[in-house]
Amino acid sequence: MGIIVQKFGGTSVANLECMQQVLAKVTSAHCDGANKVVVVLSAMSGETNRLIDLASQWSTRPDSAEMDSLVSTGEQVSVALFSMLLKDAGYNARSILGHQAEIKTDSKFGRARILDINSDRLKSYLEEYDILVVAGFQGINCDGRITTLGRGGSDTSAVALAVAVDADVCEIFTDVEGVYTTDPNLCSTARKIPKISYDEMLEMASMGAKVLQIRSVEFAKKYNMTVHVRSTFSDCNGTFVTQEDESMEAVLVSGIAYDKDQIRVTVCDVEDRPGVASAIFLPLADAGIVVDMIIQNTSRDGKTTDMTFTVPRNDLEKTQEIINRIESDIKASEVLIDERVSKVSVIGVGMRSHSGVASRMFESLCKEGINILMISTSEIKVTCLIEEKYTELAVGTLHDTFELDKEGHVCT
Ligand code: ADP
Ligand code: ASP
Ligand code: MG
Repeated sequence: MGIIVQKFGGTSVANLECMQQVLAKVTSAHCDGANKVVVVLSAMSGETNRLIDLASQWSTRPDSAEMDSLVSTGEQVSVALFSMLLKDAGYNARSILGHQAEIKTDSKFGRARILDINSDRLKSYLEEYDILVVAGFQGINCDGRITTLGRGGSDTSAVALAVAVDADVCEIFTDVEGVYTTDPNLCSTARKIPKISYDEMLEMASMGAKVLQIRSVEFAKKYNMTVHVRSTFSDCNGTFVTQEDESMEAVLVSGIAYDKDQIRVTVCDVEDRPGVASAIFLPLADAGIVVDMIIQNTSRDGKTTDMTFTVPRNDLEKTQEIINRIESDIKASEVLIDERVSKVSVIGVGMRSHSGVASRMFESLCKEGINILMISTSEIKVTCLIEEKYTELAVGTLHDTFELDKEGHVCT
């Protein structure tokens, strides 16, 4: 008998009507008993945001452990309601919360990492029930406290559960038909990608394509679990996220990602001496803040320099506190914060063997009069920081430049 894991995001469980569509997908995967199904659900669309907002009305600095107890309730509601639908339809099913599935995580509330899942426990549940409905996004730490896995964390729950139960397939159902060359809600010519490598998907996710949480892709790559991203509201094949093959290398650029949730911080006139970079970035790392782009400007006078970097918008307050604490040690004259920036990235494994992508990207942005504020590159990605107001224009023009609307665009 096969085991299928199916995850449904917030918009797929937004109301009874949507859940009826989910019911159809799940019962068709069950296939009259041919397969056991593990269904992973997110909170109903908007619910996690509502809970975060609620907490901010109660407390200016909500306790992080209580915050996780609060926001995890969204998923609890979804799994209970959906299990009712299944039972009313005559299926042998039950809901399971993160701690009941023994999804063990570290203690980083709000951004916890899965350490272990009790697969024996899950397999024994699967012997007893045909369909298990597991709450995504949540786990439990070593002190028995509820933790959550970061925004979009149900994707990671699904892939980790698929690995734990040795599933035949892990399907991520969402509100678009797969992974596109760029966000189809931003660019009308975006094209669905039939197959994408783990590495490209990792870059897409880390550069802002929120269709999959980055950690879910890390898990999938580590355990070689193919993930099928597809739509709850249609039957067609979506995108298979899988191991790289030769056909993928022939593609120069696979996708464009953007991220409006970054801010730029410039620490001005710090001393140009050993130890300054670590004085800034060690405490940021200790606080769990992910710094992405970093530029240390060349010192004009040999004594001082500016240090510029980007951090997620949500970490603005914590970043400011840390910089304020160390400002006098590193003798900074001032700290500039720019919130109206956005990151645009061009991604493709073909870049490993072909040059010229960065220059084409810069030329294309220049033609639209878009100024580049910062640049960073990796083996398969070029990222530019630009003014936020140009995001849509930049994504559209880069999509055209690299002809991503055309099937089978290859290295030239
Ligand atoms: P869910 O609630 O199902 O988890 P998300 O909102 O987290 O769904 O992710 C799906 C959304 O990701 C899409 O509606 C789309 O706007 C966005 N997205 C961004 N980049 C891409 C991309 N390259 N391909 C597909 N969707 C993308
Ligand atoms: N409900 C959580 C969120 O909105 C987790 C998820 O949907 O994956 O981020
Ligand atoms: Mg999501």
